[in-house]
Amino acid sequence: MKWDSIETFFLDMDGTLLDLAYDNYFWHKHIPKVYAKKNNISYIKSKEIFEEMYKKKQGTLDWYCLNYWSDKLKINLNSELLQTKDKIRIFPGVIDFLLQLKKRNIRIILLTNCPRDMLNVKFNETRLWGYFDNIISSEDYGFAKETNEFWNYLDKELIYNKETTVFIDDNQKVLDFAYRNGIKNIIAINFPDSGNKKQIIKNYKSIDNISLFETEIIN
Ligand SMILES: [Mg+2]
Repeated sequence: MKWDSIETFFLDMDGTLLDLAYDNYFWHKHIPKVYAKKNNISYIKSKEIFEEMYKKKQGTLDWYCLNYWSDKLKINLNSELLQTKDKIRIFPGVIDFLLQLKKRNIRIILLTNCPRDMLNVKFNETRLWGYFDNIISSEDYGFAKETNEFWNYLDKELIYNKETTVFIDDNQKVLDFAYRNGIKNIIAINFPDSGNKKQIIKNYKSIDNISLFETEIIN
């Protein structure tokens, strides 16, 4: 790929720009801990109950939605988010990468499944405001990125050329839906969570992290 063949970047947030370690901590450790305390049950039992409920919603907007889980668990997750926000981390090299795209006059669009309230906290923490030409949360469309509806909606809302757009994401299902909906240049992230081992993504080019885009993808 050549730099001058790229007009637009669609960038995922969690696991691509921000370390997924925070989300994994928040959903799989912090929430079960708070739920255990609230219901006076063991952490193990609480985790079992929560993970069961959580799994059932995977791939839907509810899965990502703080308000949905606040209602369901009777816990104020917005307040839990604020209490844990110092654990939110941006990956090294992200700002330099975004500045380089800006310098090259490439349009930068955030495409995230993260709901707006959580996104605002994450952007405040990592000072990511100001780098994007457009920020799209799948919540705006009512469909997660791993649906055809999301991509149909995007096609109606945004003028972009599928041949000259690069999409970077860390989720196999999301990448597959992007591909099925005509995105030609798809790049996966191998290490979305700094605390986990390399993930294996099928069918697409992948890089360990976004700061390697130029060295590994551009020729
Ligand atoms: Mg992601």
